[in-house]
Amino acid sequence: MDEDSVVLECRDCAFRESFANLGSARVALNDHESKTDHDADWQIKRVAAGVERAGADAGVCGEPDCANSDSPLLDWRRLDGEP
Ligand SMILES: [Zn+2]
Repeated sequence: MDEDSVVLECRDCAFRESFANLGSARVALNDHESKTDHDADWQIKRVAAGVERAGADAGVCGEPDCANSDSPLLDWRRLDGEP
């Protein structure tokens, strides 16, 4: 059910691949960027498909004990905040 939930696309070449989760996508993104010096980005399909849920998650604080800790939005914030 999580298959192909994240699509990785490069802005500088035709590289495009889908992944089951953000972790795999992030590894591939870093790998591509480090190899090519390109600027790649990902899209989370599940967010687009779950707008109603995203609205319910609008108040997430990012703490592990907070509600909706399995939200894809939280994954995004967590990953985006990494160095
Ligand atoms: Zn590229």
